[in-house]
Amino acid sequence: MYWEPSLEGMKRADLEALQVQRLRSVVSRCLQSPFYRERLAERGLTADAITSIADLQRLPFTTKEDLRTHYPYGLLTVPPRELVRLHCSSGTTGNPTVIFHNAHDLASWANLVARSLFAAGVRDTDVFQNICGYGLFTGGLGFQYGAERLGALTIPAGAGNTRRQIKLMQDFGTTAVHAIPSYLGRLREVFTEMGLDPKRDTCLRILVIGAEPHSEETRRRIEAMFGVKAFNSYGLSEMNGPGVAFECEHQAGLHLWEDAFIPEIVDPDTLEPVPVGQRGELVLTTLDRQAMPILRYRTRDLTRFLPVDCPCGRTHRLIDRITGRSDDMFIIKGCNVFPIQVERVLMRFAELGQDYLIVLDSLDGNDEMHLEVELRPEGFNDDFNALEKLRRRIATAVRDEVLVTPQVKLLEPGKLPKSEGKAVRVRDQRQQH
Ligand code: ADP
Ligand code: ZN
Repeated sequence: MYWEPSLEGMKRADLEALQVQRLRSVVSRCLQSPFYRERLAERGLTADAITSIADLQRLPFTTKEDLRTHYPYGLLTVPPRELVRLHCSSGTTGNPTVIFHNAHDLASWANLVARSLFAAGVRDTDVFQNICGYGLFTGGLGFQYGAERLGALTIPAGAGNTRRQIKLMQDFGTTAVHAIPSYLGRLREVFTEMGLDPKRDTCLRILVIGAEPHSEETRRRIEAMFGVKAFNSYGLSEMNGPGVAFECEHQAGLHLWEDAFIPEIVDPDTLEPVPVGQRGELVLTTLDRQAMPILRYRTRDLTRFLPVDCPCGRTHRLIDRITGRSDDMFIIKGCNVFPIQVERVLMRFAELGQDYLIVLDSLDGNDEMHLEVELRPEGFNDDFNALEKLRRRIATAVRDEVLVTPQVKLLEPGKLPKSEGKAVRVRDQRQQH
């Protein structure tokens, strides 16, 4: 069962033909924006240059820096009076970027989110509670419009105020929730504080999680905490927001909606495509956006194409979960480390909660990695020997994975700073000392 059978189950050859046709009109639209007019003219390109999907490679890349340099209007391809909404990225890695939408863009985006939710099993009979920041962040209105388009009763719950979230879930019989994975540990804790169990005391049947990197181990934990499946949702403001790639009921990878975006995976250094199955940087071209189309956007997100067909029959290619951004990687004592590698190790310890913070510091010119982790309420006791042993086991397990031995600090449950939005996993204090 698909939301849009004619598009989701399209034969690959037809899908490619549609991409070429759409890409041609995207290129002719781009010629309306000062930024792309110049970039395309340098290469002597017009829409006629696009006759097959391979011609995509002749088009210029676009970076976050380009969007910042040409902020705010440099990439617009329609007259400003046609615009109806703008969104900004969260600014996780620097100044935010702005994206403008016209009415067509919003309708097409809502449709992609509806399609994504449907693929994960959400239906018009569901009560969908959207637990994330509204406002400029795309997860709020993006899921709101998408779930409404699907026909679900949609609760714009917003972020935070956890007790109220639980009350809403109970009062309105919430069956599906979207939230950031790092928030769900907190939500589960408050259920316990209130003497409630989400498995027994709610009607929840589906979780949708995304907006920040999380490991498979974290997903399994979240599923165990709530007793339902949690589906991975991937998107970024520059490509609308949610609704770019989504897991279907098989959880075999995320279907990237190829009628709306052309994906490439490239080596971040050479910018050459990597072989299928190999990890690289995801590059995306919008195919159905009018106000602000973007060519070959370098997402800096790392993933790979999964060389398998999904049992659901959807033909849109599967990508693997995002393991982080190329700029999340830090170097310590000569080793390259991604936070998610540390997370995967930590999630194997049943004694630990979901939150963690990696602090990088330097003492007398020597780099040090500190790891702050919270114990779960059940694991919290004053048996010093047992805690010391646990600390050592964690340090060894992390060293085996990333080759650097961290100083592990065990904290009481709830002691790590909590953010309402995306979790901050690394604090690098090396410059300050
Ligand atoms: P910012 O780039 O400032 O965080 P956005 O709100 O647009 O602003 O966030 C998009 C980014 O969030 C993506 O580029 C990606 O790094 C991350 N992200 C979104 N969804 C996922 C997901 N399911 N898994 C991992 N990372 C994700
Ligand atoms: Zn599928």
